[in-house]
Amino acid sequence: MEKILEKIIHDNRDLINKGHVADYIPALSKVNPNYIGLSIADIDGNIYNVGDCNVKFTIQSISKIIALMLALIDNGEDFLFTKVGYEPTDEPFNTLYKLDFNKNKPANPMINSGAIVTTSLIKGSKEEKFSRLIELIRFITENPDINYNEEVYLSEKSTGHKNRAMAYLMKSKGLLNGDVEDILDTYFKQCSIEVTAADLAKIGLFVARRCPMNIDSKIGNERMASIITAIMTTCGMYDFSGQYAATVGIPSKSGVGGGILGLIPSKLGIGVFSPALDKFGNSIAGYGIMKDLSRELNLNIF
Ligand code: GLN
Repeated sequence: MEKILEKIIHDNRDLINKGHVADYIPALSKVNPNYIGLSIADIDGNIYNVGDCNVKFTIQSISKIIALMLALIDNGEDFLFTKVGYEPTDEPFNTLYKLDFNKNKPANPMINSGAIVTTSLIKGSKEEKFSRLIELIRFITENPDINYNEEVYLSEKSTGHKNRAMAYLMKSKGLLNGDVEDILDTYFKQCSIEVTAADLAKIGLFVARRCPMNIDSKIGNERMASIITAIMTTCGMYDFSGQYAATVGIPSKSGVGGGILGLIPSKLGIGVFSPALDKFGNSIAGYGIMKDLSRELNLNIF
């Protein structure tokens, strides 16, 4: 298995030169673009790590899965989806374009506006929200050392004007309860949580195992896993989600830190890390790796 994975990494390494690390968040522009790592954790307890699997990077948009989990746990499905949609969008992840139309709410929880809504729906003060987010990640990954990157958090907080604009727009439409700056603060901080490709594979496996946890919740674990997997499939790779589904066929979520989390229900979780991005904000080598992995291991769910 490791041999196959090593070859996949080797075959896709050159793609790094065609992408660019995110620089709209200034602290992210300092990341070394040459990292590349792939981790798989399967349901039988096997873990395969190749390349830079233990290098930390910021989780960014992949945190949207964790925020969605907690928002579902606290509010249940029916209420949550009065504030955010189930539908994919052909707009980029940071769009606010259609938000101002009529009674529109964010298209889905995997774009920034939708995630700002799910973060707002997590119960508790801003400190409690963040502590529940990070504790859930620590629990799922069995990694108590997970923490956030202060520099990336402050960098995004001081430059995230578009996220701020969409949050205030949503506040004006009654979509956000609570103090807008507090909600944004939690959102920026959750995006700056540091994980490794190996951690991402474990989060993928957790959802693949149908979210096994014993927690007071307004939604069943099985239903939560089903919603998350469906929305990852239709919306997880932003405005590239359709082509990604057709060419890879693995429910996935990416982040501008260069991570991609994938999962095959009841089988395995995948974590990929390579920070150079394509024009959609997805890891460019990560996409190539996922395509090859899908073919080599026959993982396409469609
Ligand atoms: N923190 C990033 C932002 O809000 C997350 C976006 C992403 O990973 N696509 O822009």
